[in-house]
Amino acid sequence: MSAAATEIRAFTAAKFDTPAKFTQFCAGGGQPLGGLIGGRTVKGSMNATFETQDPGSLEVLATVCEMGAAEVDLAVDAATKAFHGVGGKGWKHTSVEERVRLVRKLVELCERDRDVLLACEVRDGGKVSELAEGDFGQIRLCAEYFCGVAGRAEMGDGEALPVADGMKGFTYREPWGVVAGIIPWNYPIVLTSWFMFPALLSGNCILIKPAEDTPLSALYIGKLAIEAGFPAGVVNVLPGRGEITGQAIAEHPGVRYISFTGSPGVGQSIMRTCDLHGTRMKREMGGNGAAIVLADADPQMVARMIGRYTNQHFGQTCCTIHRVFVDKKIADDFIDAQKSFFNELKIGYQAEAGTQLGAVVNATQRSRILRAQEEAAYRGGQAILSGGPAEVAGRSGYYIKPALYRTSPGIDCNPMEVFHTFATICPVGSAEQALQLANSTPYGLGASVWTRDLARGIELAKQFRDGTCQVNCHNSIAYGLPYGGQGISGGPGGGVNCEETFYDYTQTKAIYVAEYPS
Ligand code: NAD
Repeated sequence: MSAAATEIRAFTAAKFDTPAKFTQFCAGGGQPLGGLIGGRTVKGSMNATFETQDPGSLEVLATVCEMGAAEVDLAVDAATKAFHGVGGKGWKHTSVEERVRLVRKLVELCERDRDVLLACEVRDGGKVSELAEGDFGQIRLCAEYFCGVAGRAEMGDGEALPVADGMKGFTYREPWGVVAGIIPWNYPIVLTSWFMFPALLSGNCILIKPAEDTPLSALYIGKLAIEAGFPAGVVNVLPGRGEITGQAIAEHPGVRYISFTGSPGVGQSIMRTCDLHGTRMKREMGGNGAAIVLADADPQMVARMIGRYTNQHFGQTCCTIHRVFVDKKIADDFIDAQKSFFNELKIGYQAEAGTQLGAVVNATQRSRILRAQEEAAYRGGQAILSGGPAEVAGRSGYYIKPALYRTSPGIDCNPMEVFHTFATICPVGSAEQALQLANSTPYGLGASVWTRDLARGIELAKQFRDGTCQVNCHNSIAYGLPYGGQGISGGPGGGVNCEETFYDYTQTKAIYVAEYPS
């Protein structure tokens, strides 16, 4: 294998020491951490709490209060009041310059407390530092991009059109009012930023519902938002279970818009609930990403690149590669190289130097993944690496070995999203066959083609059904380009991280004005 190929390695942990400020925050002065509503900490009327733990060591990091329907009511009320304000002083009246100033202040405070937010990702989220640091950088990148969009966005009255004799019409664009972001556990800081910045900068007051497995970063960011000077009620954080807190948000008619990121089944169910009272929604959901490797690719190099992406956050990345279609001329070399890459992954505790494959987020995920590994074999996949539970000395987290299966056209042993370092490799006779197989899935989030022939790569990439199609790369995300899914992976909404995202957080009305009849 060439030296260049062996340099391609998995995301890797540096040793992470938990900062005292994080431990102090988690301790909550001896009290469970409350939600943040109307600028105040709220314990919740259900008197219910849940624990959030480090998935690699099962250490309980914090006890958190669960917010129920009464707290959702309270938050919607606080956010509505903050939106309208008194005497023309609501968030909806606040100038773009002032919103930008507060967002930048919040980013500065996040950067001041970088180590605490990194601890949220590493300890609460189970991420290795190399990935957590990249995620942290998205806070500023995302905020700056949407500050720019807010500065040029056309809000308010559009250009008037003559509609009929004595009648004109124009559009009027305004924020929805109260909007909610329902966030999954795999990229808490990134996904909170992707929701929070465009929603706030377009003039909405927000409810953030973090995932029950990773509530700490949203609670910390909520605290920083208060310190930054956001008026009370503009930023509210409601921790709790999906079926309690999330459901109460979906059922609340005062929430005008929901941005949901998570699994397709939950997204479909929330959409049905929202439809009952006309709440609009955008959804960014799961995937089962494909990669097509053409015969002109270097099998060792590309197998390692694909391995790196498949293992990104231990495979718990929505758009990453889990299905590979490789030209049969290079298939055996490719499979050998990907097997070596997976075998070399250092399984360990995510805060210890050198770890590349840490624990998955919780026990439910662990049993789902182990079941999916068995099912791949049952459905006809030929195990190259069969996975199974892994042990890490001195740690009792949710560790699993990577799994790799060889398959062939017509054997669908990988139909669902398996959120782990898990891939099937199918040798194919042509790129057209690969495309047809890659597109034979209800998902449509991310896919890639690997070839030296860029023109051919682009031509094939355009034929994926996915929302994000890449050539010789995967999991790339840039502000200014939409990131969204097709099929059961997404929609409605224009995707995230583009100008349309900003406008998703606004509504447009048509205003008609006729001369007074004489
Ligand atoms: P999930 O759907 O179980 O939960 C997501 C969020 O929804 C959580 O906050 C949860 O509490 C809440 N929720 C659950 N049931 C609810 C209900 N009935 N009503 C309202 N809210 C409810 O997803 P997860 O397991 O946390 O996250 C992993 C999934 O997210 C994967 O499918 C992954 O691919 C997907 N994901 C997609 C993207 C994307 O941008 N497309 C990004 C990250 C993750």
